[in-house]
Amino acid sequence: MGGRSSTFKERIKGIDDLLKELEKKQKKKDYTVLDLGDHTQEVELDSTYRNKIRLQNRNYMVCKSMDEVDKDIRRVTLNQIMNLSHKYNNLTHGYLDEQQVKIRSYKINDINLKTQKKSPNYTTIACWSKSSNQICLNQRRSKNIDDIVKTVDYSQSTGHFMKTDAGTQDKYVITHEFGHFLEECIVQRRLQTKDYTQEERDRAVLTITEEICNIARNKYKASNNDLRQMSRYGYNDAYEWFSELFTSTVLSSNKSPMQNAMNEFLKKENINASSSNKL
Ligand SMILES: [Zn+2]
Repeated sequence: MGGRSSTFKERIKGIDDLLKELEKKQKKKDYTVLDLGDHTQEVELDSTYRNKIRLQNRNYMVCKSMDEVDKDIRRVTLNQIMNLSHKYNNLTHGYLDEQQVKIRSYKINDINLKTQKKSPNYTTIACWSKSSNQICLNQRRSKNIDDIVKTVDYSQSTGHFMKTDAGTQDKYVITHEFGHFLEECIVQRRLQTKDYTQEERDRAVLTITEEICNIARNKYKASNNDLRQMSRYGYNDAYEWFSELFTSTVLSSNKSPMQNAMNEFLKKENINASSSNKL
């Protein structure tokens, strides 16, 4: 099309700026600030040297407590995980079910992390491993469903979390965690290994961000402003950006250009995954 070059420049400018911003944050991240306290790799419950390193470098946490969680939280959490894993079956390598996902709660004081002083408000961690999947809920913040709803509601009202449909607050955190899991599955499939460096992983995640933005721009005519419709938490880095956009996409009935782009991206990935070799 005989488009003016300034239009093209304008078109990529928003994405470029966004990516630079996320990349900068990723690089400068000292891995000591935790909020939701997410991570996506296996962590054993011991204190081996390897795990200590992981904790220091990547902010991984361990669940020391195996306490049962509140039964309503457990029901909502499991339901949502099963719905989502059913939907993205090809990416998650099959359905996740009750046998495969362990839902635990932990006492905040059990966790020996320097991060705990800095950010006492984190609520949930998802530990998705190769053999089993754990969801660890902070007992202090997740006594019951009402606690979770209240916390999420407040975080949404301050712009810390994305806005979603009314009544979806109880599923917010678990959907966010599932978003990390899903992205991890995509990264592993793209890199064709689970044994990648942090740099490779960061790069892959930024590429995913760029692809979603490009779909939003090209197919859904997203403006620069649309690209920046993101929660404060989502601006932490490209990982949180993905999970936050994913969560709002899943839990909103009226889709924005960015949310449409996320759907489109995942649809394509899910189809691609069905025809590619499973790891
Ligand atoms: Zn997160």
